[in-house]
Amino acid sequence: MAKCTLLVDADDTLWENNRYFERTIAECVSLLEPLGYAPEYVRRILNETERRNIQQYGYGVGSFGRSLEETCLALAGALAAPQLRERIAALLQELESITPVILDGVPETLAYLAARHRLILVTKGEPAEQAAKLQKSGLQAFFQAVEIVPEKDVSEYHRIVKQHRIVKSRAWMIGNSPRSDINPALAAGLNAVFIPHPATWELEHAEIRSGSGRLLVVPSFRSLRHHF
Ligand SMILES: [Mg+2]
Repeated sequence: MAKCTLLVDADDTLWENNRYFERTIAECVSLLEPLGYAPEYVRRILNETERRNIQQYGYGVGSFGRSLEETCLALAGALAAPQLRERIAALLQELESITPVILDGVPETLAYLAARHRLILVTKGEPAEQAAKLQKSGLQAFFQAVEIVPEKDVSEYHRIVKQHRIVKSRAWMIGNSPRSDINPALAAGLNAVFIPHPATWELEHAEIRSGSGRLLVVPSFRSLRHHF
């Protein structure tokens, strides 16, 4: 196969991410349940709070922590506030110190791909946080460039294409999120590879819309070697 540029997502594509956030949320939900709040209700309020806070504070543990605290305190009321605040702070500290587990087959597949193609990591989030995860992962050397962006939208993909002189017909965005990896990349004229992850964050769900590029759906990161 001719040399391609492979843009590769990080969270829940190279390593586990969202399940750690889900675990933290589940803990908080269980703190609110004795006060009479159903888990689905708490989750709905949290999602709304997150959507709002992301506009201002972006993605990452800091923004998530703010949303979680806001949601829990609003529901629990003043009486429960001091204890709740302390417990949430401990949970967030735990979340921040996690070394993400690398997904199955990722290092050897990246080695295979990096020998044949140009690899660029494209992740969204808080720059220091994403850079630290990449460093801990030991996967950095496989990538010729790293892009940590505030939001993966069509204009951001256009910028990346321009900056790295990418030939769109020979470039693929690879990731687990229809909303951030697949739809905007296809809309920007890139090809895309969707690798579903069962623990993908609710806010990343979307129906896949076709664009001008090609779309592949593969069951695992490992299976990329059958296509590239
Ligand atoms: Mg992802």
